[in-house]
Amino acid sequence: MKALSIRGLTKTYKGGHVALKGIDLDVQAGDFFALLGPNGAGKSTTIGIISSLVNKTSGTVSVFGYDLDTQLTDLKRQIGLVPQEFNFNQFETVQQIVVNQAGYYGVPREVAKQRSEKYLKQLSLWDKRNAPARNLSGGMKRRLMIARALLHEPKLLILDEPTAGVDIELRRSMWDYLEAINRQGITIILTTHYLEEAESLCRNIAIIDQGVIIENTSIKGLLATL
Ligand code: ADP
Ligand code: ADP
Repeated sequence: MKALSIRGLTKTYKGGHVALKGIDLDVQAGDFFALLGPNGAGKSTTIGIISSLVNKTSGTVSVFGYDLDTQLTDLKRQIGLVPQEFNFNQFETVQQIVVNQAGYYGVPREVAKQRSEKYLKQLSLWDKRNAPARNLSGGMKRRLMIARALLHEPKLLILDEPTAGVDIELRRSMWDYLEAINRQGITIILTTHYLEEAESLCRNIAIIDQGVIIENTSIKGLLATL
């Protein structure tokens, strides 16, 4: 089963900037996959298109068999997105932020409450459930966005630079949480510009540069060529 299949994906932004020049990408269900590349390579554009926040110019995208153009509602249900920016209301409490996500996916309120407990515990945020989000540390805020992204129980979790700008200790701790989530059977795709992160965490990798996939292999295969 494929978690993600992309064919001939292009993106030209208004103003004419070409961000993606026709990429193909496959990610198998259960994989822990890294999209690695320098700033400006097209990583955020790619995951923005997969999660339907950015319009593509041409090409096809399907997630667990659901086509982006014709089965958008089903496709969206498969995906939990953790963006790079902290995009929650800093004045709401941690648990409110997670529970409120239910509204977007038709998860009943009671179910959402139970699940918020489960995911906040898993991400070591249960003790903070009544704190306003603004009181959390940067690492906790990132974990809060992960708990929120899991609320509708997506099969694919997509994270945009989950450890950008954090020190190595915090990065390692974030990796442990992500590995535990992947072990539960959730496919993970993350973008990163740290080769080290891709190496330690991921099984398969695509390297993107200037809107072109220049390598698509297993981590073992990649290390063998270095
Ligand atoms: P990455 O995530 O790898 O840093 P992005 O996907 O954000 O790369 O950007 C790819 C290219 O598209 C960059 O050259 C960037 O400047 C450009 N770009 C990104 N977003 C926009 C936008 N909204 N309008 C115009 N150009 C953009
Ligand atoms: P408030 O306005 O409640 O203080 P902010 O949104 O300004 O909250 O952010 C709180 C803290 O989180 C600040 O220290 C800010 O630098 C940091 N922060 C905000 N967004 C990000 C981000 N995307 N990545 C890393 N740190 C961030």
